Amino acid sequence: MVIALIVAAGSGERLGADRPKALVQLAGRSLLQWSVDLMLACGGADGGIERVVVALPPGVLAPPGTIGVEGGAVRSESVARALHAAGPGDPEDLVVVHDAARPLASPELVRRSLSALTAGDGGDGASLDAAIAAAPVADTIKRVQAASGLGSGDGDDLAPEGVGVVVETLDRSALWAVQTPQVFRRGALQRALDVPAEILARATDDAWLVERLGGRVAIVPSGSENLKITTPLDLSLAELLIASA
Ligand code: C5P
Repeated sequence: MVIALIVAAGSGERLGADRPKALVQLAGRSLLQWSVDLMLACGGADGGIERVVVALPPGVLAPPGTIGVEGGAVRSESVARALHAAGPGDPEDLVVVHDAARPLASPELVRRSLSALTAGDGGDGASLDAAIAAAPVADTIKRVQAASGLGSGDGDDLAPEGVGVVVETLDRSALWAVQTPQVFRRGALQRALDVPAEILARATDDAWLVERLGGRVAIVPSGSENLKITTPLDLSLAELLIASA
């Protein structure tokens, strides 16, 4: 069986909207509905997704065709709740995890991610535990030692000059910016999520939880058009991309 979990329970404060981010409108549909339509389009012979579970903000109803569950305090807790709400399954089942914050992911990317996990071996013959969409990094990335007391370091604010000094310049050719969809074997995902709350709170994606248990995760090349809606600028960019498609 193939199931899809859409996490949509974030508040989306940085978008500055008057409603939870999942309900913000993009070209006539909520961000959540874009992802639901994506997963429903991957049903049957077109990807095999049989069940779509959505982790929602409190009080938000599940869209038709989906199973709704209230999300958790952090992203991976929302994933854990959605996986539980999917009902019992086989450890070999495939689970597609997707952020509602990425409304422009394509059915083709979902199908390629599923095939990468079922057919792929990561290039060296050993089997995989996950396959995740990611785009090559275009910027040069430097690791910075933050000066104490300046800037939060999480990108929410523009850091003042002198926020810290460069410790290292990373080899860009080996860097990938990770996206969703991320596809897992159900057993591997469940084991990765069965950890203390403080570890779930540190996870910015679920693949890291699998990696920390020694799991093998393959990259599925994707494009930067599968953008994450975080700020009003991202929303404007997504509107433009849809209008020009
Ligand atoms: O902001 P962040 O990167 O954590 O959000 C990624 C996705 O996770 C968004 O789609 C958001 O709705 C979801 N999320 C969630 N539950 C949380 C936090 C984020 O479902 N507690």
